[in-house]
Amino acid sequence: MDERTDVVVIGMGPGGEDAAGQLAEAGLHVTGIEARLVGGECPYWGCVPSKMMIRAAGLLAEARRIPGMAGASTVTPDWGPVAARIRAEATDSWNDKVAVDRFTGKGGHFVRGRARITAPGEVTVDTAGGARVFRARRGVVIATGTEPAVPPISGLAGTPYWTNREAIETEEVPQSLIVLGGGAIGARPKSPKQASCSRGCSPGRAS
Ligand SMILES: Cc1cc2nc3c(=O)[nH]c(=O)nc-3n(C[C@H](O)[C@H](O)[C@H](O)COP(=O)(O)OP(=O)(O)OC[C@H]3O[C@@H](n4cnc5c(N)ncnc54)[C@H](O)[C@@H]3O)c2cc1C
Repeated sequence: MDERTDVVVIGMGPGGEDAAGQLAEAGLHVTGIEARLVGGECPYWGCVPSKMMIRAAGLLAEARRIPGMAGASTVTPDWGPVAARIRAEATDSWNDKVAVDRFTGKGGHFVRGRARITAPGEVTVDTAGGARVFRARRGVVIATGTEPAVPPISGLAGTPYWTNREAIETEEVPQSLIVLGGGAIGARPKSPKQASCSRGCSPGRAS
């Protein structure tokens, strides 16, 4: 049977969660739908954990500058505390209970599952318990964000590779690392691992 709601918000990343929360606080019946984790890319695989990695890299780099400037230092990089801090302080081990409670605490209704728009104002959600159909009286907000894109590079499909998600989740630093793409995201996760790469990580240009 169809479930009635004022607004369906598809995707509860920073954009969707904020919109859904504000609409709920304004008194609307809001159904927020999330396929993965409420909070989206930013707290679990993006902004927040990457800053912990960058902070760690900055500390290592600073400590290496002590000789010749302020005394002596011996630096022994260890990825363990960085991974532990990401797990405990940023992501709750990739558990979004706090974020779900934050939304429902504002009066929102949360559904975990993957949403499809199946008719005007109608959203079907594939949940663990089967399909649910929602009818939105006022509107549907699409806030589905982005997914890491895997570029069409010959041979890549058969090669183990990381996106930003695996780079954030890893508990071990690889001995060496090739980063394809030197934009903001590619350059960021590289730098802390570069600071602690045991065999060195070299920038290069692919053609
Ligand atoms: C390494 C890294 C570092 C970053 N650092 C910063 C930073 O310092 N500052 C900054 O401002 N930004 C940063 N960003 C970018 C930031 O993470 C994004 O701008 C932000 O997450 C976008 O929010 P969003 O809500 O639009 O989308 P997303 O965060 O992508 O959320 C969309 C959500 O929709 C869900 N979804 C998608 N399709 C469906 C569906 N059909 N049904 C149900 N749910 C669905 C997804 O599971 C996801 O949770 C960084 C990103 C990365 C990768």
